[in-house]
Amino acid sequence: MKTLIDKAMEKPCNLSLDEIERLLSLSSSDDRTSLRKAARALKHRYFGNKVSIRGIIELGNICAKDCYYCGIRKSNRNVERYRLSIAEIERMAETNAALGYKSLVLQGGEIESEENTRFIEETLKALAKFDFGITLSLGEQTKDVYRRWKDAGASRYLLRIETSNRELYSTLHPPSCDWRRRAECLKYLNECGYQTGTGTMSSLPGQTINDLAHDIVFFNESKAVMIGMGPYLSHPDTPLAKCDLISNQDKLERALDMIAVTRLYLHDVNIASTTALEALAADGREQGILAGANVVMPNVTDVTRRKAYQLYSGKPGLDETSLAAKERLDAALAAIGEEIDYATRGDSPRAQGE
Ligand code: SAM
Ligand code: SF4
Repeated sequence: MKTLIDKAMEKPCNLSLDEIERLLSLSSSDDRTSLRKAARALKHRYFGNKVSIRGIIELGNICAKDCYYCGIRKSNRNVERYRLSIAEIERMAETNAALGYKSLVLQGGEIESEENTRFIEETLKALAKFDFGITLSLGEQTKDVYRRWKDAGASRYLLRIETSNRELYSTLHPPSCDWRRRAECLKYLNECGYQTGTGTMSSLPGQTINDLAHDIVFFNESKAVMIGMGPYLSHPDTPLAKCDLISNQDKLERALDMIAVTRLYLHDVNIASTTALEALAADGREQGILAGANVVMPNVTDVTRRKAYQLYSGKPGLDETSLAAKERLDAALAAIGEEIDYATRGDSPRAQGE
């Protein structure tokens, strides 16, 4: 195992699929600790003890899709639908700026319409005065739409492939969702000049370690410069919930293994320690950093809106103000010898090198 880790640390993409699978299959806690320590050492090699920060604004929960795992899927009638106004988004962006964050993520349901495309364009123009690095996460769109949003001021786009296994993908989505289109969208995003991010969920029903190893290889093949992964967590109003049989502890371990092995394979990409980890353990995000992640994405949406945007049950921070969350995060990171990088927008070294 040590030889394998040493080999991975030499240079990016220095592991075969079989070797990635072996690192994802470690069962002793000593081995897992060594894996995570090595991944964190690599994080330090490229990013020092700095953690990049991006505030997330949850723009709206209206979605045209019906993903079987997601709490805001179109068919869930127990959700009160909302879309923020540009004035509300500007106010939340001011909070982001006041907290000293230089990056912003605008995330929401997937809507393909001219009206929505214009709305996002107008929003991006209204946010230009803040000079944030802006990431969009608004699902599958045409190449033309991606280009228009890039021209309007977005510089990054996060589109998780969810799983690189097409058959597994088809068990998680209705037939109208096409894995190939999602993969093609990632290509469009690269062609439009975005810093493109992708990612997958772990602990999905029916998913194998081999699938997860393929996911990591897929991240490299898709030329992603940022990775946002997290455990699948069930939501009671979704068809997939009844298939969710994995314990929270196992989900946490698996998600941390994915972060560690992705760091060992890709070296210098941005890897997020996502909110879903915090849903599994109070210190889940710190554990993500200790396993090699270098980005955190605190929610800066007004607390009054957060309850309507629940992808899974147990969403953390529903009532915590953005300021209180920042103070808690500062303290938690200091306790593990890390600090928030307030000086930069946190572009991936890979993207800067291009
Ligand atoms: N609608 C856009 C899309 O799907 O790309 C962006 C927003 S969507 C809510 C962002 C991500 O949430 C998805 O890519 C998916 O991985 C994640 N997600 C949805 N339901 C989830 C669940 N039950 N557990 C964990 N992650 C979930
Ligand atoms: Fe919509 Fe995204 Fe949820 Fe799928 S994951 S239902 S596209 S918000």
